[in-house]
Amino acid sequence: MPELPEVETTLRGVESFLKDAKINQVTIRNFSLRWPIDPRLADILTGQTIHLLYRRAKYLLLECDTGTLIIHLGMSGRLRILAVNENIAPEKHDHFDLVVENGHLLRYTDPRRFGAILWTEAPIEVHPLFSHLGPEPLTEAFDTAELLVKSRNRRCSAKTLIMDGKVVVGVGNIYANEALFMAGIHPQKIANQLTKKDCDKLVTAIKTILTQAIKAGGTTLKDFRKSDGKPGYFAQQLNVYGRQGEACVHCGSELEHYKEAQRATFYCPKCQKLK
Ligand SMILES: [Zn+2]
Repeated sequence: MPELPEVETTLRGVESFLKDAKINQVTIRNFSLRWPIDPRLADILTGQTIHLLYRRAKYLLLECDTGTLIIHLGMSGRLRILAVNENIAPEKHDHFDLVVENGHLLRYTDPRRFGAILWTEAPIEVHPLFSHLGPEPLTEAFDTAELLVKSRNRRCSAKTLIMDGKVVVGVGNIYANEALFMAGIHPQKIANQLTKKDCDKLVTAIKTILTQAIKAGGTTLKDFRKSDGKPGYFAQQLNVYGRQGEACVHCGSELEHYKEAQRATFYCPKCQKLK
């Protein structure tokens, strides 16, 4: 599933082809994504200019003349940039094409169709998908004080806390596991027992892990222009995720794992203390 770093990498991969570009044509081949695509969308978008592309949580946002196109990659979605003159025929799961004046085409592919393509003319901050979201992890708004305040009246685990989009957006399961390991905090430590020092370590770990992942993805940027290329979903160096039974990179203890809220959780019993 595309996580925040993959979405950020996707944004950086497509941005230069679409920024300030006028939309010439939109083709929608399948309207049934997670939510139905607005049947008027092709008419609405055609002739508009894309002024700004940015990311909020795991959504890609294309700000146009009269509103914003919201794209979510769901479980299996991906975006590619193609040249119109390559004439590459769409395949079964290529649900959406957006052609811009400069001769490029943005193609959305999604075999499982859990992704979304939505249009809104309201400010993003008041849109129901965005109005309750916490801060972006890589901005100054997400800091020790913020995490400490948000953890005070919570009885959930530290792992559940950092995966809650109201606390901070975009920390998926893999990155939550890795951040807790880097911070030396047991995933099951109760949120309101996190100390200020714990919060400080966690904030630093989350920012570091996500930044490293985005950096790793940057090396695959060229793939956005390859017609058959897989986009930048990358295997970064993982220290605990998927490594149960292996030796901890810090202390050599055997890494353990369990399921929490149906999510695979991995930790070092020696480096990550409950208390
Ligand atoms: Zn260890």
